[in-house]
Amino acid sequence: MSSIKVTVWNEFRHEKTDEAVAKIYPDGIHEAVAESLRSAGFDVKTATLDQPEHGLTSDVLDDTDVLIWWGHMAHREVQDEIVARVKERILGGMGLIVLHSGHFSKIFTSLMGTTCNLKWREIGEKERVYVIEPGHPIAEGLGEYFEVPHSEMYGERFDIPAPDTLVFLSWFEGGEVFRSGCCYHRGMGKVFYFRPGHESYPIFYQPEIKQVLANAVRWAAPVGGPTVTFGHRPEPVEHVEPYEG
Ligand code: ZN
Repeated sequence: MSSIKVTVWNEFRHEKTDEAVAKIYPDGIHEAVAESLRSAGFDVKTATLDQPEHGLTSDVLDDTDVLIWWGHMAHREVQDEIVARVKERILGGMGLIVLHSGHFSKIFTSLMGTTCNLKWREIGEKERVYVIEPGHPIAEGLGEYFEVPHSEMYGERFDIPAPDTLVFLSWFEGGEVFRSGCCYHRGMGKVFYFRPGHESYPIFYQPEIKQVLANAVRWAAPVGGPTVTFGHRPEPVEHVEPYEG
């Protein structure tokens, strides 16, 4: 377990331009997430938008089992070429965890094939996250629900394909609900979308959030299944008498 290699990617812009955000995440959201995963025993590195190739070189991806994605204001600055590279890796088996406003990232919308649009409001209301699939590995160690005291609201409809498994459902103080923990398989890879995590609130320091991210990393990591092959198979697996007509 402890050898799972995680790369935490962050566009790293709010923390540089917004003092309030910088106060909460002085080293960036990626470092807060990375630190909590390191203390959970994972092998964690970080990458950010302004690095060459957005920090997501082929070498880095070769050395990544699970990629975590946080973006918000700069989705369009992510080069299509890098998105294609990341997508290819996911289809080949790399795990992907998309956080909060990453719902509009190029990689997530490309994997979903829908707009991934939603309703939102930012007044610091309470969010109650219900565990609706208690037997799922991502729910390990959680209670029936947990609360984020101050959250940005995301409301349905969330324009995504129906998840393979929906682990969390959020209720907001203002009355809206949202599918906030969505599992997908894409190719050989596993994708988890996790809603909480707005930059203006210290959500990534919350114990339940750290627990979910550690659980999600373990769930999304590749399992070393059979190598997949495709194409023409002139030799059948069992003997077959050719049909002569
Ligand atoms: Zn937000």
